[in-house]
This record gives sequence, structure tokens and C-alpha cells, in this order.
Amino acid sequence: MKEDCQKNFEKINEYLDGELAHDECRQIEQHLNDCPECQKCCDALKKTIDICRKSAQDRIPDDMRKRLRAKLRDCFGDRKTPVGQK
Ligand SMILES: [Zn+2]
Repeated sequence: MKEDCQKNFEKINEYLDGELAHDECRQIEQHLNDCPECQKCCDALKKTIDICRKSAQDRIPDDMRKRLRAKLRDCFGDRKTPVGQK
């Protein structure tokens, strides 16, 4: 996983904890467009963006949040990249 992806992942996790900031949503969306790895990685990302778009002011339902988080962890957790390695 690239460093960018890692950052993205952290952001998404923040989202799931709190409200969806439209700005950050767009950043993630942009990263997704640029990063086939993340696109392939999981639907959870796309779903998150989707939710972002549709309900920037709403909270993510608990249920959905749990599922997304589990998916993200599956996805990113499996591909640990040493941080700070160049
Ligand atoms: Zn990525």
C-alpha cells in the first residue's frame, strides 16, 4: 500500500467515526480516481464516497459504519506496508 493510500484509509476511518466533511470526501474521491489499487481494493471505499455525496450532513448509520469499517480493515489490513520505508 502506498503512503497516500494509508492516509486515505485513515481519513476514511475518521469519517466513519464522525461526520462526513465534504472537502475530505472529495479528496478521497480524487485519490480513488488516481489509484487503481484502491479502486480494486474494495467497494467499501466507493460506498463511503457514495454516502459522502448523498448525505454529507447525515451520520452514517451504525450498521453501515460497522460493515464498511470491517471491509476496510480486511482490505487494508492485509497489505501492510512498512511505514516510512523508502
Ligand atoms: Zn490508493
